[in-house]
Order: sequence, then C-alpha cells, then structure tokens
Amino acid sequence: MSALTDLSVAELSAAMASRKASALEVADAHIARMEQHRGLNAFIAETPDRAREMARASDARRARGEAGLLEGVPLGIKDLFCTEGVATTAGSHVLEGFVPTYESTVTANLWKAGAVLMGKTNLDEFAMGSSNMTSHFGGVENPWKRRGENRKLVPGGSSGGSAAVVAARIVPGSTGTDTGGSIRQPAAFCGIVGLKPTYGRCSRWGVVAFASSLDQPGPFARSVEDTALLLQAMSGHDPKDSTSAPLAVPDFVAAARNPAIKGLKIGIPCEYRVDGTSPEIVALWEKGVAMMRDAGAEPVEVSLPHTRYALPAYYIVAPAECSSNLARYDGVRYGLRVPGKDLTEMYSNTRGAGFGKEVRRRILIGTYVLSAGYYDAYYRKAQQVRALIARDFTQAFERCDVLLTPTAPTAAFAAGDKMDDPVTMYLNDMFTIPASMAGLPGISVPAGLDKDGLPLGLQLIGRAFDETTLLGAAAALERAAGFTARAEGY
Ligand code: GLN
Repeated sequence: MSALTDLSVAELSAAMASRKASALEVADAHIARMEQHRGLNAFIAETPDRAREMARASDARRARGEAGLLEGVPLGIKDLFCTEGVATTAGSHVLEGFVPTYESTVTANLWKAGAVLMGKTNLDEFAMGSSNMTSHFGGVENPWKRRGENRKLVPGGSSGGSAAVVAARIVPGSTGTDTGGSIRQPAAFCGIVGLKPTYGRCSRWGVVAFASSLDQPGPFARSVEDTALLLQAMSGHDPKDSTSAPLAVPDFVAAARNPAIKGLKIGIPCEYRVDGTSPEIVALWEKGVAMMRDAGAEPVEVSLPHTRYALPAYYIVAPAECSSNLARYDGVRYGLRVPGKDLTEMYSNTRGAGFGKEVRRRILIGTYVLSAGYYDAYYRKAQQVRALIARDFTQAFERCDVLLTPTAPTAAFAAGDKMDDPVTMYLNDMFTIPASMAGLPGISVPAGLDKDGLPLGLQLIGRAFDETTLLGAAAALERAAGFTARAEGY
C-alpha cells in the first residue's frame, strides 16, 4: 500500500474498511505531514488533539459496525465554518478570540458521516479575495512553483488554504466556500478538483457570512469521485437556513463513478473568449472541447450575452451584502474590542483596527451603493442585471446540458502580484462569477499544465440542482484529461 497521505478519500475509506489502517493511523500520518509542511501557512489552527480524539471515536464506531460514508477521513475546514470549541477567525483580526459555541450544519454533517477535523485553513479575510493575500494571518503558499523558479506563488482565493492542503497531500479533502469563484479558482491554481454546488444545496448556517445571496459551501479533493463523496455528506435541507433547498440529496457518488457523456450537449459560450485570457488557457479550452467530443459529447456554440456585466454587477451586490453582514462586528458580541471614550468610539476603534484594507474597501463600496439616492442607480440596477444573467443561462440550457469554460484567465501568479490594483485582482473571477450570480453549480477539473509547468483548470457549469449531470461530465473530462502531475516535492 502506498503512503497513507497519497491515498484518495475513496482509497482511504477502502483501506480502513479492510482494516489495513485504523483511523488513528490515518490521522497520525496526516498530522505528521501537516507538521512537515507548516511553511505553506495553510492552516490558521491545527487541531491534532481533536483529530486523534475523533479518529479514536471513529475506530470505535467502525468496530461496532457503524461506519459512515467518510468514516475516519481527515479533512481541512476553511476557517469560515464555525466549529464548536475551536477558534474561528474568518481570516480577520476582528474575530480573533472568537470560539463558537455551535457547529456549522455542513461541518456537523461531515462529522456525522465520520470525518475527522485536522485543522482550520487559511483564507482571504472574510473570503474577500482571489489570492489569500488579504488574510490577517498572512498569505498561503501554493505548493506549485514555476519550473526552474523559486518564487512563491499564490494558491488562489479565497479558499486558498483549503486548496493548498489538498494539493500538498496534507489532507485528501477539505471544505471551501464560493461566493464568486473562491472554490473553483483556487482548485484551478492548485491542480485539484473544486465544486461549487447550486446555491441552496449546502446549508450556510454557521458559515461566517460574506454575501448571503451568493455564498455557498462546497468541497475540494484530488478527484471528481472524492468531491462527490464529500458533497454527499455536506448536502441536504436545513431548516436553520431559510435559503436551503428543501430537496432530497441525489446519489452524487454514483454519478461521479459513471462518466456519463455520450450524447450530452456541451455548451461553449462565445462570450467567454475574452481578451486577457492566457493563450495557453484558450488552447486548453479548445482541447477540452475536442476531448469531450471524442468521448461522445456534442459541442454546441451558445451565447450568454450579459456575461460582461456580471463582474461589475457582482462588485455591487457582493459589497452591498457584505457591508450589511459585517455591521455585526462592533466589539460588543464577537472577538476584538478596542475601547474608546464612549460606545460610538469603541465601535469605530474596533472596526478600524479589526478590518483589513480590502474588507474596508468593500464595506465602503457597499454602504455607498445602498445609500439613499444611489440605491436605485447602483444596487437596484445590479439586481436587474443579475436577473438578465440568470436568464442567459436558462436560455443556454435549452440548447445544452452543461457548459465548458476555462476556470480562470491565468495560472497561479506570484505572491504580491496584482495587489496594487484591485480591479486586476477582481478580473480573476470573470469566468466564475456569472454562474455565481445565477446560483448555478460549477466544478473546476485540472486539465493540463502550462509552459511553466503550472496546473490549469477547466470549468463545467450545470443546471440548478443538476449536480449529478455535472459530476458525470466532470468525471468524463477528468478521465480524458488524465491529469496526474504533482507539485514538485509534494
Ligand atoms: N474573488 C472574489 C471576491 O473577492 C470571490 C470571492 C469568493 O468567492 N469568496 O469577492
């Protein structure tokens, strides 16, 4: 048997089921690897004691014949999910010292399925970013480097820590959240699979809110099958989240194990051919279309005419919701408190010291677009544009079953790049944001390497609540692409 840390979720489950390894041995192997790769700065908190305790309990359950779907599987959890008794920071100074007294629904579901918490992963502050560089706890390093270069690259964001720990084989799977691309883009940058489910598929309860109408938890793993296994456990209706969909959870795992592509219509949106996309990514996209055709699918050209308005509309809607969600961090109930001579001064001292530059920028934009006189000009208009974007997709899906696009316009960039111009940073998400605005599921599959040896991802977008078709197509793309490259030294 190869090293335990090389095994996938499915392989680890099989190894534990056949008693080749105990959950405690699996946890110990991954803890050792976590300690070995601390230089990545991918965890805000490591929880080895909790991991061993959960692993022992898992072994006891298995001995009683009560093994769950993810029994004994070690996971990294984005530090945006509240975990009972384990500090949760959202990558922000303002939440330092906050220890939740409750567990998010998604993580509770994972523990119910037998999974083991290894630690809380680093992220952009309040999930605002595309590089992990806005974290109060410092940037995460991507395990991948350009061939022959030693410069540190970003893992993408905001769920960069969760993507890096899977790529570095510190854990076989992790959770992220995706508001505008924060699962799909880091997955592409780190050469792994990342799935953003349909809005409403996974409960947002207990997930620190950024933009509530867009936020959606989802899984990272090194294969489509593994993301399906995680999604299976994470999903389901939750009465505690009013936007949680009251739908039964389909068999995602079966869908991922059956690369169903024959006769499927793959939509290629012409508006995604935009300037600024790396030519290698355009070439990979074309190769992806050819691979899908060879596998039996039928490519069709489709049009999503409002695509170019998605990013500007997102940067009104998301900051608007963030400005209102983040109003709760006032030094009274959570985390940081910086005293002042009166209550008002305490509020402003706390917020001034607690929030980083990007978060402050978003709060300012959001407050502006919601203020009297501007609400109609910006916020209402952005909501109207959002409806048009959603309609584009509905019309496209009359002609195809899934869409195939690049995930991001470039490969991973160097730490510190794009930091002086927020708009350049925002452009990272031009291919992921439209599906977010429409609430649709999307998955990034690693599909090739660029000339520098960095991984590139292709994105598939599906119909609302049709993750099964999406997973089947993703499994076919994964098989055709045959991506097996690993970051050097990992
Ligand atoms: N990069 C985008 C932003 O900064 C998306 C972030 C996310 O999906 N959480 O808003």
